[in-house]
Amino acid sequence: MKEHTVETMFRNEVCQVDRCSCGQYHVSLGKMTVHMSAPQFFNLAGAIQAIDWESVSARGIQ
Ligand SMILES: [Zn+2]
Repeated sequence: MKEHTVETMFRNEVCQVDRCSCGQYHVSLGKMTVHMSAPQFFNLAGAIQAIDWESVSARGIQ
């Protein structure tokens, strides 16, 4: 069994992103934690960056 040592990369009151020593990324939202491989995580990050956030926030984010 590989050891799972997590390094927190980001955390706020809503979500947390940890990089795990096994090579996976753990994204926690409330009680839910999604484990992603590095390619999945970077694809997700790219998708989020590709969103037109100005137009999204113009509609209002609660
Ligand atoms: Zn792990």
